[in-house]
Amino acid sequence: MPETRNNVESRLPTYEEVMAAAKRLEGVAHRTPVLRSRLIDEQLGAEVVFKCENFQRIGAFKFRGAYNALSQFSPEQRRAGVVAYSSGNHAQAIALAAQLLDVPATIVMPHDAPPAKAAATAAYGATVVRYDRYTEDREEIGRDLEERHGLTLIPPYDHYDVIAGQGTAVKELLEDVGEVDALFIPLGGGGLLSGSLLSVGALSPHCAVYGVEPEAGNDGQRSLREGRIVHIDTPQTIADGAQTQHLGELTFAILQRSGPTILTATDPELVEAMGSLVTFMKIVVEPTGALGFAAFRRMASRLQGRRVGVLISGGNVDPARLGALLAGAA
Ligand SMILES: *Cc1c(COP(=O)(O)O)cnc(C)c1O
Repeated sequence: MPETRNNVESRLPTYEEVMAAAKRLEGVAHRTPVLRSRLIDEQLGAEVVFKCENFQRIGAFKFRGAYNALSQFSPEQRRAGVVAYSSGNHAQAIALAAQLLDVPATIVMPHDAPPAKAAATAAYGATVVRYDRYTEDREEIGRDLEERHGLTLIPPYDHYDVIAGQGTAVKELLEDVGEVDALFIPLGGGGLLSGSLLSVGALSPHCAVYGVEPEAGNDGQRSLREGRIVHIDTPQTIADGAQTQHLGELTFAILQRSGPTILTATDPELVEAMGSLVTFMKIVVEPTGALGFAAFRRMASRLQGRRVGVLISGGNVDPARLGALLAGAA
């Protein structure tokens, strides 16, 4: 039987949960810097504050949600271990959180995931299980690990504690700079955006929130427009952290309730935004991490003189790839 809306509502985290997550993360996650650039402000005609999660542990905000979830495991869950499916930042986030909390971690990755990512994950002490995405069923591998070995699955975004943990980045930003007029946040499965909305509701309620997804995969935009979770094929984009095929049940419910505006950015716009961040701020940002800034640059003329928050969500991009992207070769 499909869940009623009330039923989902009762399972959504609140700002109280974000505050509790912040306590758990204190002294464990970095309180990342809020950076500014006079030249970017002049260029775009606004007062822009960047929350730089590219400087977070593992190079992206995902450590926040992962640690918040794992630190609440029961003794039995800790003993049995955690399992996650990911070849990206969620994998490394779970692996590091598990290492810090002494929980065995199993990360399930497709056999064609970049070797560097598998190596980075294994370096945190996680067991990496590869599967062939064409001949093996990931769900079956997962069920086996969960049911037979008693592991707890932590999904990358549609999870109460993950959402609450992700909300702590914007909580810090708003505590540091006060209220803002607009806030631009990258959007994949919606864990970061929905957690951020909880913090905005409490700390900067009049702020206009923009979620930004790749133009090639605007399922979030369509989902809010159509009032249902739209599923799409894996989008072709350089924003590999936002190649999600659909929002989650919990993240969608929070988005629907708060009604952020969803914008999109094209790959060339992401490259331009990354180039601007390297040039003026001297920071390395991965394509997905530049979604918010790319969208803001496009609509800056409508935010003249305003205070604008931009969340830089991660910086995990191979230097050679970054160079090729900026040189226009990839
Ligand atoms: C995962 C990720 C996102 C998207 O986050 P969701 O919670 O899935 O919306 C954005 N940027 C980076 C760098 C990520 O790793």
